[in-house]
Amino acid sequence: SASERLVVVANRLPVTCSKDQHGHWQLQVSAGGLVSALKGVSTYTTMWIGWPGIWVKPGRERDALTAMLVQEGCIPVWIDPTLLDMYYNGFCNSVLWQLFHYVPLNIDSWQKMSEHRAMQMQWQAYQVANQRFADVVLENYLPNDIMWIQDYHLMVLPSLLKAVVPKMKVGFFLHTPFPSSEMYRTLPVREEVLRAVLGADLIGFHTYDYARHFISSCTRILGLEGTPEGVENNGTICRVGTFPIGIDPERFTHALETDEVQSHVAKLLNRYAGRKIMLGVDRLDMVKGIPQKLLAFEKFLEEHPEWRDKVLLVQIAVPSRTDVSEYQKLRSMVHEIVGRINGQFGTLTYVPIYHLDTSLSFTELCALYAVTDVALVTSLRDGMNLVSYEYVACQSDNAGVLVLSEFAGAAQSLGAGAILVNPWNITDMAQAIEDSLCMSEEERRERHRQNYMHVQTHTAQHWADTFISELNDTHIEADLRM
Ligand code: UDP
Repeated sequence: SASERLVVVANRLPVTCSKDQHGHWQLQVSAGGLVSALKGVSTYTTMWIGWPGIWVKPGRERDALTAMLVQEGCIPVWIDPTLLDMYYNGFCNSVLWQLFHYVPLNIDSWQKMSEHRAMQMQWQAYQVANQRFADVVLENYLPNDIMWIQDYHLMVLPSLLKAVVPKMKVGFFLHTPFPSSEMYRTLPVREEVLRAVLGADLIGFHTYDYARHFISSCTRILGLEGTPEGVENNGTICRVGTFPIGIDPERFTHALETDEVQSHVAKLLNRYAGRKIMLGVDRLDMVKGIPQKLLAFEKFLEEHPEWRDKVLLVQIAVPSRTDVSEYQKLRSMVHEIVGRINGQFGTLTYVPIYHLDTSLSFTELCALYAVTDVALVTSLRDGMNLVSYEYVACQSDNAGVLVLSEFAGAAQSLGAGAILVNPWNITDMAQAIEDSLCMSEEERRERHRQNYMHVQTHTAQHWADTFISELNDTHIEADLRM
């Protein structure tokens, strides 16, 4: 019924808080896929609980900002900068995020912290931060609320909640990959994390492989009984399922009809006239395989002099975690490769790679998606990869080709229409670039049609509806067993 509430608990609230020139707080509500998906789950009143992205000391100012956030359906979890650093930069991003993307733990960064027990301290901070979230959830909890916890930041939250309210409906969704148990078992606190997340009634993953890896980790590490449906845990069953996320395709197709996007489109077409345009849009992150993509483009230009001057790669590298040294090194490496390729294959009137270290506005991004002939998604690991979905959504006129890494979750859903590649095989990728540029119009249209249908039907809305209805069913079954 409409009185039932869906409470989405996520590390970050979908709002940005900033002060205007008079010192008054301004809220900017984000428009991403998750937010619009959950708005569409119309049977529920939706609320968010999460970190507001800033720190305000307790007092009048915090109270005023909290009241504004609550107006937007957002309840803040306050986390001071010291805790945030150990929890978010520490355990979340340099331990879990790395490991879940098959990047081995890095002993180097621990010993540099001049803390002998750096990881232990980060783990403590992670638990403390999760407890802060639990406190806020419990303060606001009403019976019949559905709690939907998002992502690797909050893996111990399910158990913290269930310990206090055993009947609470708790779902958990992981937006990253879940790695093979061979990788996962290197985590020093592997048992604690698994046991804690198993407190949820339902755990969702993007792909069947991630779900299978999770279940086999529970079997191997905790000795629990696993079935394709879930994990048996102390007489209760924690359901495990596959729920591939999607986007809100109408947000893109509607934007394409606006004058603003059309004027960007006209400018870009004019600027790139006479060339085929390939596009990469990634956060500048090791897991996106940007150097691999550039090396493949370099090899392609080396082997195909006839294409020099006729093809352009536009690479948007959105800055990410810029204070972390690995990310700074990656940026230098990417700049070096771009410089080398432009130096070698450029002419007085032609530059092969337009590389931007910046984010784009939504309208610029839509225009770029619409005018490009090929998208190159070369992730070494990627939970899903929404860029590939967004590209397909914006290509109904052009029917551009999607070259997609088999290591992105999206390969499971867009594999039929895409050219799949192993991003470590540079030769193969260079060939895929040639194939994508030379593909017949008929084949392009057919491949695009398949993927477009998928993107249109497997939306973020569909994802949220399916997860929530499965969570409700799971909970009813569990009640019957009690
Ligand atoms: N994106 C953005 N600004 C940009 C470029 C991209 O907001 O300048 C968005 C893009 O539309 C997409 C998201 O960033 O929704 C990237 O999501 P994806 O799943 O591809 O990768 P992630 O960054 O989450 O690893």
